[in-house]
Amino acid sequence: MKKLQELCRENIWNLAPYSSARNEYNGHVAHVFLDANENPYNAPFNRYPDPLQEEVKTLLSKIKRVPIANIFLGNGSDEAIDLPYRIFCRPGIDNVVAIEPTYGMYKVCADVNDIEYRPVLLDENFQITSEKLLSACDQNTKIIWICSPNNPTGNLINRNAIEEVLNKFEGIVIIDEAYSDFSSEKPLREELAKHPNMIVLNTMSKAWGCAAIRLGMAFASQEIISLFNKVKYPYNINLLTQKQAIESLKDPVAVEKWVKILLLERSRVMNAFKDLTITEKIYPTDSNFFLVKVTDAQAIYDYLVEKGIIVRNRTRVQLCGNCLRITIGSKSENQELLAALRDLK
Ligand SMILES: *Cc1c(COP(=O)(O)O)cnc(C)c1O
Repeated sequence: MKKLQELCRENIWNLAPYSSARNEYNGHVAHVFLDANENPYNAPFNRYPDPLQEEVKTLLSKIKRVPIANIFLGNGSDEAIDLPYRIFCRPGIDNVVAIEPTYGMYKVCADVNDIEYRPVLLDENFQITSEKLLSACDQNTKIIWICSPNNPTGNLINRNAIEEVLNKFEGIVIIDEAYSDFSSEKPLREELAKHPNMIVLNTMSKAWGCAAIRLGMAFASQEIISLFNKVKYPYNINLLTQKQAIESLKDPVAVEKWVKILLLERSRVMNAFKDLTITEKIYPTDSNFFLVKVTDAQAIYDYLVEKGIIVRNRTRVQLCGNCLRITIGSKSENQELLAALRDLK
């Protein structure tokens, strides 16, 4: 890995971050707060929230088995996807490499930040070699994006290929493990110590059932997390989100139950799809969704919309012609989908 200072934008490396009122008295116990121009009435919403979300991170640290100093919390993964561009990539100069097809936000954030985005096509099994990814890089490539399990394909990316990229690439490698709760593969966040150039993303939006509260996270070296904290909005995670996150994190058993049910439902729904006349190919998955190639994705999508059932039409995505992406819902939602598709002539 190159030196972090070499990878980091100079203006960010030299940035003096905003110092919030609550940052400055640290270490002392206080009970009169006349420092932040808050209104003393209307508790508990009158006070600024903890800018570094210690209580949330303490719970997360135990569940994710990652030290607090290696955790960043963002306003959804969206924030954790955007910040690396703003930290590492010089607009109009640097570029990033990513597998293709994959989650759309990596490219949207590259475009917003005026960073060249270099997609590298997966093979027909939705896999990639480290050689292919590395040969798309040049001296201005700052980040390689790998989503595993991948969206929209659903599958895990070969662990050997990921490890080779982590070991050989001199820049930052970001592994998006939004769906790792649904997979039996060992999560890469537990191998942070081995890979100083790795950032792993997780989210409360999927297995944790908290898409509405907008809480995403990045796990990385302390040095990289410090850069995230320097650049983020001072109070990026609001109090309502922190409170709900704490409630949810106190009950990890609920998540285990949901995951178990969803995985059972997933195999039931995928089996049922085998018998549908519209099904051409069902792709293997390690996520709470699966990709299916059908006879006519647009027509079937439109038909389902008419019935009030929304799936994701991925037919215009590379390698996904005539593919629908189906999220596993509750048993009754899945039944409704299957009944509608069985009715299709
Ligand atoms: C759904 C999803 C996320 C979650 O994004 P949030 O902003 O945390 O809701 C992140 N990465 C991938 C690949 C996803 O599919």
